Amino acid sequence: MKTQEYIALEEQYGAHNYHPLDVVIHTAQGVWVTDVDGKKYLDCLAAYSAVNQGHCHPAIRKALLEQADRVTLTSRAFRNDQLPLFYKMLHDLTGYDISLPMNTGAEAVETAVKAARKWGYTVKGIPDGKAEIICAADNFHGRTTTVISFSTEPQYKNGFGPFTPGFPIVPYGDIAALKAAITANTAAFLVEPIQGEAGIIVPPEGYLKEAARLCKENNVLLICDEIQSGLGRSGKMFAFEYEGIRPDAVIIGKALSGGFYPVSAVLSSKEVLGVFKPGDHGSTFGGNPLAAAVACAALKVLVDEKLIERSFELGAYFTEKLRTIKSPHVKQVRGRGLWIGFVLDTKARPYCERLMDEGILCKETHDCVIRFAPPLTITKEEIDWAFERIDKVVRSMD
Ligand SMILES: *Cc1c(COP(=O)(O)O)cnc(C)c1O
Repeated sequence: MKTQEYIALEEQYGAHNYHPLDVVIHTAQGVWVTDVDGKKYLDCLAAYSAVNQGHCHPAIRKALLEQADRVTLTSRAFRNDQLPLFYKMLHDLTGYDISLPMNTGAEAVETAVKAARKWGYTVKGIPDGKAEIICAADNFHGRTTTVISFSTEPQYKNGFGPFTPGFPIVPYGDIAALKAAITANTAAFLVEPIQGEAGIIVPPEGYLKEAARLCKENNVLLICDEIQSGLGRSGKMFAFEYEGIRPDAVIIGKALSGGFYPVSAVLSSKEVLGVFKPGDHGSTFGGNPLAAAVACAALKVLVDEKLIERSFELGAYFTEKLRTIKSPHVKQVRGRGLWIGFVLDTKARPYCERLMDEGILCKETHDCVIRFAPPLTITKEEIDWAFERIDKVVRSMD
């Protein structure tokens, strides 16, 4: 079958909740993907950072296949011999007391919201039904009904109400606004250390540090959504490390799977996650042995291959190169690590389409920003290869 036939099938039989580039991927390895016509592309999106380790990483693949031959799903009604190792690895790598595994990012955010609310009632003493979780404007935390309740993007909400109450919104990066929003009923402040979907927005220096201080002072939990920023993407294990803080809870997902199988988790203290008693919360697939084995392998690759350090170094290299592109349409090149927002003064989609013709896959975010976020396994030579093409395309659009 040819590209156009696959696209026709998808358009006819699928819901149209995405507007993908018209490339039909057939195989992938490392940073490269190949379409059904045999054309190769450099993947500069890395599935929104779910494949930080590179496509079809052999070590993660091996873990998946070996575990698939043994046992894949037990449900949490019984124990399995992989989940304990996953818990231990998360603890050893991050220092957080305990964790709670789920599948998708949005589910882990929901889990953090439930934990924060219950902590608010049972530990902080907030009156029943009054708990508030402060969120930042332009956030992205997923697509479930409660999670979109605190989105400020009209398109994410229109037609999907009524919404879950209890989520005051403050401008991102505005510490005075956060201070003013905290009340006796505030259970938590939920924030992305760098806003990904908003266009890779790095907050003003000191913002997270001050937010952490305010939270502590007011007995409010600081919860960082590191689903996209975490696990090496920003050049650190967690983006909050740039501010030397330690949030009360951290949400991870995406690259925790190495792109093989959905895995997410909330990391926190015994005090916070300890609010869950048997039966309070759960998921049929959460913590299953296949997911646990895959996640352990995915984390091990990040560490063994020094992908976090690599992201830091090559991110700086790539960013500096992109800043040399001379075009009146380029407003800013920003980001951290191999997570780069290339900000234009015009629609980014046509640029992405031209880049696709040149063999580079990337996706616009918020109309005018191109996100460059290749797998962290990318080499300097591959960055040079990409740069030549990006430079050519950007200048050809002037
Ligand atoms: C992708 C993302 C989510 C949602 O994850 P899903 O697996 O798509 O549910 C939540 N928060 C952030 C910051 C994300 O980038």
